[in-house]
Amino acid sequence: MKNPPFTYHRPETLAEALALLAEHGDEAKILAGGQSLLPVMALRLGRPEHLVDINRLPDLDAINVSDGGVSIGALVRHATAERSDALATAAPLVHAAMPYIGHRAIRSQGTVCGSIAHADPAAEMPAVCLAAGATMVAASAEGSREIAAADFGEGYLTTALQPTEILTEVRFPAWSPTARGTVVEVARRHGDYALVGLACMIDAPGGTIASAALSFFGVANTPVRIAEAEAFLVGKAIDDTDAFAAAGDRVAATIDPSADVHATSNYRKHLAGVLTRKGLAELSANQGVPA
Ligand SMILES: Cc1cc2nc3c(=O)[nH]c(=O)nc-3n(C[C@H](O)[C@H](O)[C@H](O)COP(=O)(O)OP(=O)(O)OC[C@H]3O[C@@H](n4cnc5c(N)ncnc54)[C@H](O)[C@@H]3O)c2cc1C
Repeated sequence: MKNPPFTYHRPETLAEALALLAEHGDEAKILAGGQSLLPVMALRLGRPEHLVDINRLPDLDAINVSDGGVSIGALVRHATAERSDALATAAPLVHAAMPYIGHRAIRSQGTVCGSIAHADPAAEMPAVCLAAGATMVAASAEGSREIAAADFGEGYLTTALQPTEILTEVRFPAWSPTARGTVVEVARRHGDYALVGLACMIDAPGGTIASAALSFFGVANTPVRIAEAEAFLVGKAIDDTDAFAAAGDRVAATIDPSADVHATSNYRKHLAGVLTRKGLAELSANQGVPA
């Protein structure tokens, strides 16, 4: 299906892009990789009158690693993140999510920040951001501000970003040397959005779990952490498979997934429990991302 008509803008600087967004407000949409926006338009689920293509903006295509953590710029493609050894070391959970995102062709165009801004409930990156305590940096003509991942997702395809703002980078805190993380999911076919997925992290200095993050996607309009099961894991040994099974039971008892044409709520509950056990077992066996 053809896209509805729109006016195409291709600014050369961030200031020009922000001025265009300030001028056109919610009649404008940012175009990054186009892997979600263009299908949305073709299906007439959105009809922006102005597209502001940010692909020519300078200095937004870098992955920067420092002692304080990792910053991923707005124009870093999924494929670049997937191939980055620096990212694999400094933000292993982010790196682990990449192979699950669509297919290679989609990853070669789609951007990490576009995925976060689009906020599909079944997407990997918003859940990874929530698990890892990421910070979004949003720029507008008025200046820039930081938004914590926990405050970012507001609903179905809805975030705290204003129509006049560009997500210029996402920042992840420094990865603890004793932390492990992985992403596990169930999808009908590889490359499809997940029916249910889990971005999971534990920090286990000396083999005892000191903190845990269980961040589910595909279960609600935004990613969901299950605090009760996370707290239960604290103090347990890294190889305590009984505790992992009990954590899975707690997740299945607590989580309240939505139902749709793809899966019932009960089936998603079941999957969430199974994925909890699977993710934790991977981390225990160190088959997830190495510490
Ligand atoms: C067949 C198919 C399968 C897919 N499977 C998956 C999957 O399994 N998991 C997954 O996570 N994704 C999946 N995707 C989506 C893909 O990952 C997209 O690349 C991603 O969601 C959006 O990135 P983009 O750069 O293409 O954004 P675009 O499509 O250009 O933009 C998406 C939305 O985000 C906004 N936006 C983009 N960048 C910014 C920015 N810097 N600041 C503010 N707003 C911005 C746009 O205005 C638009 O509203 C799939 C896509 C397809 C077509």
